[in-house]
Amino acid sequence: MLPESERRDTADRERRGRATLLACLAAAVWMFLYEAAKQAFLPNLSAWQSHAMTIAVSACTAAIVTYVAIIRQAGILRSLADEQALRATLELRQEALAHSEARYRLLVEASPEAIVVHSVGVLLYVNAAAARLMGVADGGSLVGVTTGDMFFAAESERSLSADDVSPEWREYRVLRSDGERIDVEAASVNITYAARPAVQTVLRDISHRKVLEARLIHDAFHDPLTGLPNRALFCDRVTHALSRLQRTANYTTTVLFLDLDDFKSVNDTLGHAAGDRVLAAVGDRLCSVTRECDTVARLGGDEFAILLEEPESRDEVLAIVTRVYTALAAPLRVNGRDLAIAASIGVAFATAEDNATTLLRNADVAMYEAKESGTSRHAIYDPCMYEAIVQRLALEAELREAALDPAAAGFLLVYQPIVELSSGNIRGLEALLRWNHPTRGFTTPDAFIPMAERIGTIVPLGQWVLEEACRQLEVWRTLWQTAGRDPRSLPGVSVNLSAKQLQKPGLVADVQRALRLTKAGPDRVTLEVTESVIMQQTEATLDTLTQLKRLGVQLAIDDFGTGYSSLSYLQKFPVDILKIDRVFVEGVARSGSDLALARTIVMLGSTLGLRTIAEGIEDDKQREQLELLGCDFGQGFLFAKPMIAAAASAWLQQTSTAGFGDTAVEPMAAEC
Ligand code: C2E
Ligand code: MG
Ligand code: MG
Repeated sequence: MLPESERRDTADRERRGRATLLACLAAAVWMFLYEAAKQAFLPNLSAWQSHAMTIAVSACTAAIVTYVAIIRQAGILRSLADEQALRATLELRQEALAHSEARYRLLVEASPEAIVVHSVGVLLYVNAAAARLMGVADGGSLVGVTTGDMFFAAESERSLSADDVSPEWREYRVLRSDGERIDVEAASVNITYAARPAVQTVLRDISHRKVLEARLIHDAFHDPLTGLPNRALFCDRVTHALSRLQRTANYTTTVLFLDLDDFKSVNDTLGHAAGDRVLAAVGDRLCSVTRECDTVARLGGDEFAILLEEPESRDEVLAIVTRVYTALAAPLRVNGRDLAIAASIGVAFATAEDNATTLLRNADVAMYEAKESGTSRHAIYDPCMYEAIVQRLALEAELREAALDPAAAGFLLVYQPIVELSSGNIRGLEALLRWNHPTRGFTTPDAFIPMAERIGTIVPLGQWVLEEACRQLEVWRTLWQTAGRDPRSLPGVSVNLSAKQLQKPGLVADVQRALRLTKAGPDRVTLEVTESVIMQQTEATLDTLTQLKRLGVQLAIDDFGTGYSSLSYLQKFPVDILKIDRVFVEGVARSGSDLALARTIVMLGSTLGLRTIAEGIEDDKQREQLELLGCDFGQGFLFAKPMIAAAASAWLQQTSTAGFGDTAVEPMAAEC
């Protein structure tokens, strides 16, 4: 093919040749017409005139032709120059465009951002970063692929399309060549690509951010220790279940509220790491006995909840409760010890009026009721429970407040004598706590001691009892001396210690402080601990009791016969006295199992070198029988009911002037 300039020269030459030929032809025609016109119109011209005329006409014609030629050539030259200038400009522009396109390609290709160009849903260009993002080696291999096959909107699964042109970042999912779907965000603008309208989309891989976001959301709704849903997620699920209940006929839902029994002592005795292991194990076990559609959640501390969706019947719910108990009771080995986990469970069946808060509260109320009735119990919510709980919570608050200054809050001690069965002589007095409540009146320990133990106020309260009883002991010492009686026969005081006090590490120091403050003689102070408490934590309890014994106080096992003591342990404990529980004393006068048990306890006491006290002696027959069995001491309404300190002092004075056998104890106004 000829170059452009050569083609133009050839065309010019041809045009010029045609112009010359035309000019020659025109001149010939002109000459012919001129000669013909001269002959026709001026036939009489002389030769000179004809020549002169031809010369004049030729000169004029030449001048005109020259003029026209000059004008025309000038025009031709001008248009040639213009054309050349235009061509040069165009060439420059084309060159600049080619440069700019090359630069653009270089920039886009090298861009770390993933960029694709697409038109009417078909990929036209994919840069290297976009190829990497989509998991292919070469972006060119994706050209021609439809965007709908690769891009999906994150939520609606709508594909990236030409309609989606937006400079705002929007989230999509990309299907990579390896089949994995990754999260991306994309922004698009309209461009012209290869002279056609197209869309340029910039993509960013946000899968890492999405994973972090998902983890944050998960953490916000799950308990880190057990991995179970937390309270917020649980309430959300309950809300959904309740809205289904309102929409769907025959749909039922139930919430179980679980609180581990005595979990605090696991933490206190085995440490928090062990406590955490127990909680994690509880979570696993709860999941293992519930269905896939149920939700097991940890609400906090040792509280768990289960949402049972569509249980078939109440019986099925109760069967699940039983399964929970069985699963929890399986021994769990922690720090070399086998723990049996127990829980109190509240059950609340949802009604159409419930919302998540009320349903959870009802289950909580039922759990509270279950806990009050002992360990490993369950209770089904009943509206009347709520009122009782409100009252109990009020009492709890009052008890906490009262423990700060027990005397001011109306707490007082009453004393019940303990007498020698053979002689009737007074041996000691047991200090028993009462609460003269400003509105409830005189309250016995059953109404507040279990609660005080549960909420921990028994510890300061028990310390107050100990100090108060020791102080009273010293008052009686003065009384004894004034009456001129043998100081060796001064009755001692017995004080009840609760399990919580015994578990408290500072108990020995507390007892020491009480003795020091009141200057009470330790040999006259007896600390009573119930049999079940002693047997609970043998090694730690043994250590505490040994230290207490070193202070010089006496130790008694209260309510003996009810706690299934192991004799080998009993031998190890540094105790002085066994108190036979009232339940065996009651039937001791009738021959039967009670008599046999009382006899065994008395024999056991004498074998181990311990003295025995029978509790709750109410009549002479019981007293005589116990004396016959060889029981050393007795306590009960037969001798005296618990009395306030002043009445007990009067009682002591009476018995100091007359032997117990002669003492006709008047019915005392101060009997409590
Ligand atoms: P406990 O230590 O076994 O106290 C004996 C209980 O038997 C007392 O009941 C007493 O009033 C009652 N009782 C005594 N003789 C008779 C009788 O002949 N017939 C009948 N039916 N009952 C009799 P109370 O005072 O209601 O105390 C009950 C329990 O409360 C006590 O049992 C003790 O475990 C606990 N308690 C009382 N005061 C305190 C205290 O200051 N601290 C602690 N931790 N527990 C206390
Ligand atoms: Mg007692
Ligand atoms: Mg007792």
